[in-house]
Amino acid sequence: MSHLMNTYARLPVAFSHGDGSWVTDTEGKIYLDALSGIAVSTLGHNHPELVAALAAQCRRLLHTSNLYAMPQQEQLADKLAALAGMDEVFFCNSGCEANEAAIKLARFYGHRRGVDCPAIIVMEKAFHGRTMATLSATGNRKAQAGFEPLVSGFVRAPYNELDAIRAIAEKNKNVVAVMLEIVQGEGGIHIADIDFQRGLRRLCDEMGWLFICDEVQCGMGRTGKWFGFQHAGIRPDVVTLAKGLGSGIPIGACLTAGEAAGLFCPGNHGSTFGGNQLATTAATTTIDVIENDQLIANAVLVGQLIKAGLTQALKEVDGVVDIRGQGLMIGIELDRPCAELVTRGLEAGLLINVTAEKVVRLLPPLNFSAEEGEELVTRLSKLIRDFLAA
Ligand SMILES: *Cc1c(COP(=O)(O)O)cnc(C)c1O
Repeated sequence: MSHLMNTYARLPVAFSHGDGSWVTDTEGKIYLDALSGIAVSTLGHNHPELVAALAAQCRRLLHTSNLYAMPQQEQLADKLAALAGMDEVFFCNSGCEANEAAIKLARFYGHRRGVDCPAIIVMEKAFHGRTMATLSATGNRKAQAGFEPLVSGFVRAPYNELDAIRAIAEKNKNVVAVMLEIVQGEGGIHIADIDFQRGLRRLCDEMGWLFICDEVQCGMGRTGKWFGFQHAGIRPDVVTLAKGLGSGIPIGACLTAGEAAGLFCPGNHGSTFGGNQLATTAATTTIDVIENDQLIANAVLVGQLIKAGLTQALKEVDGVVDIRGQGLMIGIELDRPCAELVTRGLEAGLLINVTAEKVVRLLPPLNFSAEEGEELVTRLSKLIRDFLAA
């Protein structure tokens, strides 16, 4: 019997090494990686610059603690602030921690404004993490079941429906913030309308609410801009990042601007590991490579190629409901549960994921090549056609 706690229904495959967008299992079989460990391996596997930078940092220092000045953390904060148009950055180790920081910040902000019982509007189908507060913010009853009492102070609203949020604004005077994913990942690749984002920004300004963007999955270039909200030309008050930020080394970040900046003082929040030398080296190198190799332009190009290729290959196939996405964050919605496609993918040498039961989710590395995009389209469209025909 395994001594691992049974938190994942693991697939019967283990990998031994990887190179670029390809990984090899312990039996020597090679797979095309169209998932990147859920949007984490931004630069693919075994990226020479990342490996060299990490190895060099390992020889210098792994960790000192936030008790001391951290010049590398300051430089990374400067860079992220510049890229996102934000003011301040707090570093942690994961997406849920970045969101915990955002939630604490929103409550702190609320209390400053005299709201004793501050509430945050969160979306249906949202995913914000597995810790108690982020689980409570998550819009998935199955994930929450058995863990009650949930953390209070969250109000649920339908995604992309500004009127519903306006209605909450009129009734609930405790609201101090809205939190949403610009592209919902776990929820099934749902994209926030540009008008919804802009309308929400205006509403937040009117009401004095913080606009919190959870960009843990869709941030760091994946959608074809550095951050998803940049498609709408808005600036949130709080942005959270993790997954792709460190290309596989755990690091998360909570960015603030305007009213949300300058709230926390020493003693209000912290993290032992957050932003240590190894993690900030990973993030800084990830950003450098994205910039130098123009990986955001690549995400746009290859994302379009994959979406167009799949649309063409699957047109007139009964059972394909929708093919949607932005950049290299793509969902193919079928008319039936299709978790089985993941195992069929393994057989066909392809790493994909199925989320929200019926949505095939693609999150390839940002340096996925056009040829790899075509290979993905060929393998995946055959898998989907065979599955729907069975
Ligand atoms: C994955 C994810 C999280 C949680 O990140 P962890 O690192 O697993 O804690 C939060 N928000 C979004 C949008 C995510 O996709």
